[in-house]
Amino acid sequence: MRVWIDQDLCTGDGLCCDHCPDVFMQLEDGIAYVKENGHALNDPGSSGSLAVVPVRWVENVIHAAEDCPGECIFIEIDAPVDADLDVNVDARIAARIDIRDDAA
Ligand code: SF4
Repeated sequence: MRVWIDQDLCTGDGLCCDHCPDVFMQLEDGIAYVKENGHALNDPGSSGSLAVVPVRWVENVIHAAEDCPGECIFIEIDAPVDADLDVNVDARIAARIDIRDDAA
């Protein structure tokens, strides 16, 4: 599973960081970014701003997306790779989840 943030919509309230500080962080501009291996992916709009979510943080990331007031946390699920993930997704964020199945 991967996650990215549309910084243009971020309100900067920091709720995502409260939910999962290992995946989300705020930079000096007050806006939230995803991070990977401890480093912020701060190149909005590029494929480099898409962070891989470790399995142990999947649930926290989904909760962050559900509570995000800017509705700007987007999740990509790789159907074959993530088939074993046991996650329940609230209908509120269904539009922000992209299920990819490149093999199909
Ligand atoms: S919860 Fe959403 S709006 Fe709030 S800081 Fe995180 S990404 Fe931005």
